[in-house]
Amino acid sequence: MESLNRLVDYKFNSSTIKQSEDMSENKNILKDTHGRDHAYLRISLTERCNLRCTYCMPADGVQLSPKSHLMTYEEIYDIAKTFVDHGVTKIRLTGGEPLVRKDIPVILEKLATLPVELSITSNAVIIDRFIDDLKRNGIKKVNVSLDSLDEGKFKHITRRHEFKRVYNNILLLVKEGFTVKVNAVLMKGFNDDEIIDFINFTKNLPVSIRFIEFMPFDGNKWDISKMVSYAKVMEYVNEAYHKDDILRLKDAPNDTSKNYKIKGYQGSFAIISSVTNPFCDSCNRLRLTANGQLKNCLFSATESDLLTTLRAGKSIEPIIQKAVRAKFKARGGMDTLEKLQKPQLHGKNRSMITIGG
Ligand code: SAM
Ligand code: SF4
Repeated sequence: MESLNRLVDYKFNSSTIKQSEDMSENKNILKDTHGRDHAYLRISLTERCNLRCTYCMPADGVQLSPKSHLMTYEEIYDIAKTFVDHGVTKIRLTGGEPLVRKDIPVILEKLATLPVELSITSNAVIIDRFIDDLKRNGIKKVNVSLDSLDEGKFKHITRRHEFKRVYNNILLLVKEGFTVKVNAVLMKGFNDDEIIDFINFTKNLPVSIRFIEFMPFDGNKWDISKMVSYAKVMEYVNEAYHKDDILRLKDAPNDTSKNYKIKGYQGSFAIISSVTNPFCDSCNRLRLTANGQLKNCLFSATESDLLTTLRAGKSIEPIIQKAVRAKFKARGGMDTLEKLQKPQLHGKNRSMITIGG
C-alpha cells in the first residue's frame, strides 16, 4: 500500500513540475484578479455530523456523497501540500463535524508535518476524546459552535440533547490552554435575547464570543427578517454597558470579525457580518469540500473538481489557478443585499453542512 502511494506521489509530483514550468509566467496561482492572495485553506473532512443545526442542515438531511467520492487522508494531504507549496500558511479543519471522521488522528498527524498553522472548528460534542491528538499535532486554536446558553434552546436548534457536553468541553478546552472562540449564529426571536448573557459569559472566561449573522444556504429557510445584524447587536451592547466600558479591539489582518471587549472582562466578543457588512476586500480564504471540490468563496455557486484530476495522476495546479482567477470581487457575485435575497441565486450553493464554515 505504502509503495503504491509513493508511486502515485511520484506520478503526481513529476506532472506537477511540468505544469509548474508551463505556468512560470503566472507564478502566484493563489492570487486572484482583484489582487487578493489566498493564504488560508479550509478543509471540510466530512459531510456527516452528530448535531442537526437547523440553519446548517435541511430537516430531511442532505444527500451524502458515496464514500469512494470522499478524499482519503492521503488525498487530503496531497491537495493540502500543493496549496502550502503555493503559499498557504493556515489550514482550518471543518465539516460537517470533523471529529466524527474515524481517521481524524491520522489526518492531524499528516497535516502537522506541513509548515502551516493548523486549527479546527468543531461542535465540541466529543472533543474531550481528542485533547491529546490536538496538542500533539500543534493545534492551539479551536472554534466551537454554541448558539444558546439555555439547554432547551440548544436542543431546539441542534435537534440533539448535547448542551452539557458542549458547555463542559468549552471549559475543558480553556483549562487545557487552547485559544477558544465560540461561534453563535444569531436568529431574531430565538437567541437575540442572549447576546448580553453571552458577553457576560466572557467576564471570567478568556474566550471570544463571535456573533455570526445568519447566512443563506441551500435548504436553510433563510429570510433576512430572521437575521440579527451587526448594527442590532451593537444596539443591545450600547444599551447594556456604559460607553466607556465598550472597547473596540484591533482586528487581525484578514480578520472576518469586528472585535470588542468589555473593560475588565477576561474574554472578548466579535461580530461576523457577512450579510450586512461583508469583508470580501481582504478575503484570503479558499475552501475544499470533503469530496475534493474547490470553492473560491463561501457563497460561490460553482466549484472545481480537484479530486478527479488528482486521482487521474494529473496536476491540480491549473485547476486551482483557474478557480482562484474566477473568484468574484464580492460574495460569489451576490454583491448586493438584493441579490443575496434571491433564492434562485443563493439556492445554487450547497447546504453549509457540505461546504464547511
Ligand atoms: N460542526 C462544526 C461546528 O459546528 O462548528 C464545523 C462545521 S460548521 C458548518 C462551521 C460554522 O458554520 C459553525 O460555526 C456554524 O455556526 C456556521 N454556520 C453554519 N450554517 C450557518 C449559517 N446559515 N449562517 C451562519 N453561519 C453558519
Ligand atoms: Fe453540524 Fe456544525 Fe452544521 Fe451544526 S453547524 S449541523 S454542528 S456542521
